[in-house]
Amino acid sequence: MLRACLLTTALAAGLCLTGCEADEPPVPNLLLISVDTLRADALEPYGYGRPTSPNLARLAETSVVFEQAHATSSWTLPTLATVMTGELPSTTHTHTFASSLPLGFDTLAERLRAAGFDTAAVASHTFLGVKYGLHQGFTHFDDDLVNFIADSHNAITSDQVTAKARAFIEAKVAADRFDDGPWFLWAHYFDPHDSYLAHEGFSEPFGTETDRDLYDGEIAFTDHHIGALLSCLDELGLANETVVVFVADHGEEWRDHGSHGHGQTLYEEVVRVPLTLRVPGYAPRRVTEPISTLDLFPTLLELCGVAIPKDLPGRSLVPILAGGAGPDRALVSELRLGVAFDAIRRGSHKLIVDRKQQQVLLFDLATDPLEQRDIAAEEPELVAALRAELEQRLAEAHARGRGLAPSGSSDLSAAEAEALSRLGYAE
Ligand SMILES: [Zn+2]
Repeated sequence: MLRACLLTTALAAGLCLTGCEADEPPVPNLLLISVDTLRADALEPYGYGRPTSPNLARLAETSVVFEQAHATSSWTLPTLATVMTGELPSTTHTHTFASSLPLGFDTLAERLRAAGFDTAAVASHTFLGVKYGLHQGFTHFDDDLVNFIADSHNAITSDQVTAKARAFIEAKVAADRFDDGPWFLWAHYFDPHDSYLAHEGFSEPFGTETDRDLYDGEIAFTDHHIGALLSCLDELGLANETVVVFVADHGEEWRDHGSHGHGQTLYEEVVRVPLTLRVPGYAPRRVTEPISTLDLFPTLLELCGVAIPKDLPGRSLVPILAGGAGPDRALVSELRLGVAFDAIRRGSHKLIVDRKQQQVLLFDLATDPLEQRDIAAEEPELVAALRAELEQRLAEAHARGRGLAPSGSSDLSAAEAEALSRLGYAE
């Protein structure tokens, strides 16, 4: 597929560049694959011992794998709003079920569309419905799986997400002689989310006795259909001109700290997410330094040749992709879903502030990766420094969100509230 040069895209975005060298790299397509409720350590490329993810393992072998990627919260709407805006939940006003991403944000899809990308998304979760605002910038927004499935938490949709995503890519190739511009496709998979269902041909290696067994089978089923989407890139000769991002919105607690589900705490089992980037021209490697999903927004803009807004809270990961070091910066996450937690990680230390219980916990993830031993009482100076940095970052996040107040709430009906409750969300 022929592709317009970077200059064409840059000019479409209103940038002022001079010259378009013949050897300038072409603007890539962008395929963003997100999976709901997928904790990193449930995947083979993150060390899991069960065969949940052969296709994602193959993808990881050709990608830059971020071993310590942190989401900005532990449930869907705020974390995916971060991916689309590069902002923290306090900036995007996405703290509750009644939230909706304000229309004033210039989202990833809007920026890429302005730069000449054809933009498409396949939604499979309530929070990707139009009322929650994540649709902004997508010319093709397929939310049939949100709107026409009455009982989404008991539905199986990964096969349909792949079919819809493949149909978009195949249509782009078929139309290539008329339109050779790049495209951005976001495919969101939902099946690993509660309820945990058995999948014939996939669940058997894990058993169906426990929810955890079923969860692993759901991951294997989803992995299979992600593999079918990825193979489409190979079949159509697009793999070398497409950036492939794989990420989860958040993880899942299996009573690691006493509870089950997500959106209830900010421990690693819910905020540490898998993140891999396969970028033509960049060698695969594994990155151990902690990064935030805030960083995806500037990273993807840079890889697509689009200007990065100044003063974002995230930083482009392109220097890391190229083998360099990442920014020296703390990672922040927030949760206000009936609780009030904030967390900050700097280096191996992670501070969790429970504002309702007025409690502060400090963990050293280097020696205590499962966050079992609170050392706050032993490190008062470190606690104070991290607390001050956290409050500063949150104050900045709130300030960035002023003037972008919600344009309207998502106005849950009683039936929708009940459906969310069944999904395990309890505000
Ligand atoms: Zn989710």
